[in-house]
Amino acid sequence: MVSEQVLTTFELYKNYSMAKASPKKSRSILTDSSFSFFKNYINNASPVGFETSGQKLWLEYLKPYVDTSFTDPYGTAVGVVNPKAPFKVVIEAHADEISWFVNYVNPEGLLYLKRNGGVDVQIAPAQRVIIHGKKGPVKAVFGWPAIHTRLSNPDHKEPQPKLDNVFLDCGARNKKEVEQLGIHIGAVVTYQDGFDEIANDYYIGRAFDNRVGGYMIAEVARLLKQNNKKLPYGLYVVNAVQEEIGLRGAEMIARRIKPDIAIVTDVTHDTTTPMISKLVEGEIACRKGPSLAYAPAIHNKLLSFVEDIAAKKRIPVQWRALSRSTGTDTDSFAYSNDGCPSVLISIPLRYMHTTVEMLHRDDIENTIKLMYETLLGLTPKTNLNYF
Ligand SMILES: [Zn+2]
Repeated sequence: MVSEQVLTTFELYKNYSMAKASPKKSRSILTDSSFSFFKNYINNASPVGFETSGQKLWLEYLKPYVDTSFTDPYGTAVGVVNPKAPFKVVIEAHADEISWFVNYVNPEGLLYLKRNGGVDVQIAPAQRVIIHGKKGPVKAVFGWPAIHTRLSNPDHKEPQPKLDNVFLDCGARNKKEVEQLGIHIGAVVTYQDGFDEIANDYYIGRAFDNRVGGYMIAEVARLLKQNNKKLPYGLYVVNAVQEEIGLRGAEMIARRIKPDIAIVTDVTHDTTTPMISKLVEGEIACRKGPSLAYAPAIHNKLLSFVEDIAAKKRIPVQWRALSRSTGTDTDSFAYSNDGCPSVLISIPLRYMHTTVEMLHRDDIENTIKLMYETLLGLTPKTNLNYF
């Protein structure tokens, strides 16, 4: 039997987290049902190259708000408003999450891994994971020697986590037991951590990079539909696969759609936490609005169009300078076909590529608003000519 005190604490905690986990601002543009889609979407695994289950969830949510939808051979999903219009505008996010591949099984049944996207080896030890095997999901952990035993190695140095010393323990004690669980070479591995929220409307989760983007573009489509807005062009709401291994899904879909304009959203670093140099990374903070960037791939006229919209609608923005590459799907769209005017609207995020990625609700809302208002302002006649 559980003590009274423990029970009370538990009940309090339960109510507290339930109350916090739903949208509560009356002026919020997010609804309870859209927010619960967001949580489900984050909690579902969507590893690079294996995004289909996430794409299905996303399309199911999006479909009521678009006229038609399609998918491409590698799983990029697209919802279209006004499919017959000759002028095409894309709003885009990427659907994939960084993950691992099982690469080698040792005789003791421990699994060594290869990276599938930019997973961070430094944060791996002691994390819980799911191995997506042929017989369904299998739980495992990144084992790591106890603090008591680490220094008994011959050179008395603390081991640093590296690709050749981090391993998974799934409870199997030889290769055969590994096989019996349905685990195979090439099985993909994701972290178990899911959506949660902490004080002051901050959310934490794994792979907000960039499924928050998928959520935000879907919300833009929902708001357009629910507010009965008519657009003078075809709108393509694109959730691209395989961004984390080189912007590949966007590359494919840009060629297929041949858009006239692309508005890309992704996450960017909040640089105000310790051990990040603002001198190098610039200054961006959560809760201060979406970030706009200058870069050769970002179309100057389209950028100043978005800047004007932000000023008119009083949406706060923060500025960055990027260089040769934005490191986002913006590059794939900008340099596709004969060149496509593209702009990047980023949401600030703390602790990128960890299991505790953190972002703020206000930034989600303001990023949605900025995309939404930009779409309402654009027409096929918007002058984007440099000369
Ligand atoms: Zn990423």
